[in-house]
Amino acid sequence: MNGAILAVGNELVQGRVFNTNSFLAARELLLHGYEVREILTVPDDLSLIEARLRDFLSRYLFCLVSGGLGPTTDDITNEAVARALGKPLVTNEEMVRRIKERERAQNLPHNPLRLRMAELPEGARLLTNTRAMAGYYLEFEGKLLFCLPGVPQEFEYLLKKKVLPLLEEKLPAGVVVISRLYKIFGLREADINLKLKDLEKMPEVTIGYYPVLPEIHVSVLVKASSKERAEEVFSQIDETIQAAFGPYIFGLEEDLLEAVIGRLLVERKETLAVAESCTGGLIASRITRVPGSSAYFERGVVTYSNEAKKELLGVPEEILATYGAVSEPVALAMAEGVRRLSRTDYGLSVTGIAGPTGGTPEKPVGTVWIGFSCKEATVARCFRFPGDRHLVQDYAAGTALDWLRRYLHYGTLVPGYQFAC
Ligand code: ATP
Ligand code: MG
Repeated sequence: MNGAILAVGNELVQGRVFNTNSFLAARELLLHGYEVREILTVPDDLSLIEARLRDFLSRYLFCLVSGGLGPTTDDITNEAVARALGKPLVTNEEMVRRIKERERAQNLPHNPLRLRMAELPEGARLLTNTRAMAGYYLEFEGKLLFCLPGVPQEFEYLLKKKVLPLLEEKLPAGVVVISRLYKIFGLREADINLKLKDLEKMPEVTIGYYPVLPEIHVSVLVKASSKERAEEVFSQIDETIQAAFGPYIFGLEEDLLEAVIGRLLVERKETLAVAESCTGGLIASRITRVPGSSAYFERGVVTYSNEAKKELLGVPEEILATYGAVSEPVALAMAEGVRRLSRTDYGLSVTGIAGPTGGTPEKPVGTVWIGFSCKEATVARCFRFPGDRHLVQDYAAGTALDWLRRYLHYGTLVPGYQFAC
């Protein structure tokens, strides 16, 4: 069951408004077993909308149009649809009644422009049965055309409550879909791919790899003709993925690394403090974005200068002078120091060279020492992260957080990571 999405609006092609409607519709249609073959965005241009609609209706079973249904003169979707279908615009009396009723109910002065919303292509059927909300559908030569308002809340409401049920009734997809997003930390995209490429040969399965650095997200989509078959195939895939990447998978779907750590710390009734240099508070910021983090996050200090490392964390002067700020002894002293001073169960530390300047042949840009301190021990490890300043900071923050997760979940004191020196 193939279809297309056409988003209409000058603001969309001018880069002023993000096209969230197409994004949402594509995702929902996919999860309901429909295949969106094309998503197109066009400006408020009558002949362009008409031409693209004709094209879509000649090739696909359904088409979803977003935007341009309102009362203002720049809303021209109705006219374009009428032209594409070769039908006249006719006054929809029910819509006229609802518009007038709304004017009365809200005490609005009559505005004749509002009645433009009732001039619909012949055969249009309103999608709502009560509200004066734009949105209708048309059946045309066995195909379905849906026209939805651009306002995201209205678009979402009509998509979920009206469009999907109508599609399922009139053009049943005939497939069951199961989808899952796996979030992985600490492995390379290509190495993940290598272990999964045999699964991709199964006809019911589509696997996607998305680097959302420093994380890698892997999406699995199973499409089968019955629920039983879809579940059977999915459980086989899930088992393979869990067996291949178990400890590297930090979450699913909407999970965030910092929230996963939060849940683990709450369960264990344990606390955390962090000492950051080159990440400048990024770790503390991520942790505190999670609601309820005060239950486990005691403090975060940004000790950017050597003075701060000495004064706030008690890092000895001799260590700084002998080894430099970006070194194992300093990372150890920072992690140990922040944990001791804040009396927490865990201390994390980061000290490194984010660049673009400050690198040396022995310690090039991207060199970062991360320290981890717990009751059992204090350990540190050197990493050589790739990319520009911001990416190095993201890798450093992510790795520190993931290190803690690996310890909390698996008891691993020094986990293996791809960019470890
Ligand atoms: P209205 O009755 O409000 O005029 P409409 O169907 O004419 O509805 P538009 O005028 O195209 O819709 O857009 C209304 C609002 O929704 C605008 O703020 C617009 O920026 C926003 N919008 C339009 N299309 C999209 C889209 N594809 N994704 C996200 N927002 C959108
Ligand atoms: Mg409008």
